[in-house]
Amino acid sequence: MCRSSVTLFYGLWVKSWSLAFAADAYGQINPTLLGIDLIARRWREGKLEVEEQEMKTTARDLPSEVWELVKQELIDVALEKQAAVQLACYRCPSCRNALGQSTEYEQKHYPELLTETRDLTDVWTCWEDLKCKRCIEWIGVGAFRWMKSGGRRAEVERLLSLYQLCMPSTAAHLEDYTSFDLNELSPVALPLRSSSTNWTLFNRPQVESDRIHKDDGDFADHDAYNLETSCLSIPADAELRFRRLIHTYRLWVVDPTKSTIVPLSERQPLSSAVSSTHQTIAEQEKPFDEAEPRWMLWSFAELCC
Ligand SMILES: [Zn+2]
Ligand SMILES: [Zn+2]
Repeated sequence: MCRSSVTLFYGLWVKSWSLAFAADAYGQINPTLLGIDLIARRWREGKLEVEEQEMKTTARDLPSEVWELVKQELIDVALEKQAAVQLACYRCPSCRNALGQSTEYEQKHYPELLTETRDLTDVWTCWEDLKCKRCIEWIGVGAFRWMKSGGRRAEVERLLSLYQLCMPSTAAHLEDYTSFDLNELSPVALPLRSSSTNWTLFNRPQVESDRIHKDDGDFADHDAYNLETSCLSIPADAELRFRRLIHTYRLWVVDPTKSTIVPLSERQPLSSAVSSTHQTIAEQEKPFDEAEPRWMLWSFAELCC
């Protein structure tokens, strides 16, 4: 099925791997975080009961700021663990050998491992930089299934819903689909809903066309929706929600936008004054910070074969 879509959303983009690890980490430590929230709430309400301890400081003496720090520490440890577990899955035999992690099976099948010497600085150790060429070959393009792994998507939505945010589309953003998917981006947005039950299956702010393409080449399709202006009013705490999510779960924000739709104004006459060599104001000045949520229009098209 060929597919194309246009999505309208207020939000930003993050690297899919950072969101995937955040969701995995959250899934692992969620019960503990809930427990700490419960303790902190009882402390605020003066209802926290603790057993007598010999030490001078007990849980009753810890202010809520300390519980927040404990939570952040737990999240950071869980994020690091998820990143390390995934790295261990994907490293090439040479990197694994350099870290003393290669198995007997690998040493038997890659005898060169026994004689090679590798600088540890060349070994792939973090998701920000896949610096080992052998790892790139070993993994191959399209190997990571960030949002397509079983259950991951639901976990991501569960994490985002804590901040009253969502993913506005099931598609991912990859500049070049033959390139390495460490660059894949996922949109994070304020939720919008449709007045129609026939909107998209998952109720996303998305105009979508799916068609089986025919040999006669005629497979045009189209769709149009109204937009209520009240959709455009942004809740007062929206920016804070995005910022908290990104900081707490260490998400890697990337801005893939090319230019900005701006109203016509005196500064930008419609006349021939805008020549091909003259950049528009929008192009000269990047009007948004990378991590600044804003309205975006995103088009996506995919051929089935
Ligand atoms: Zn097709
Ligand atoms: Zn490697």
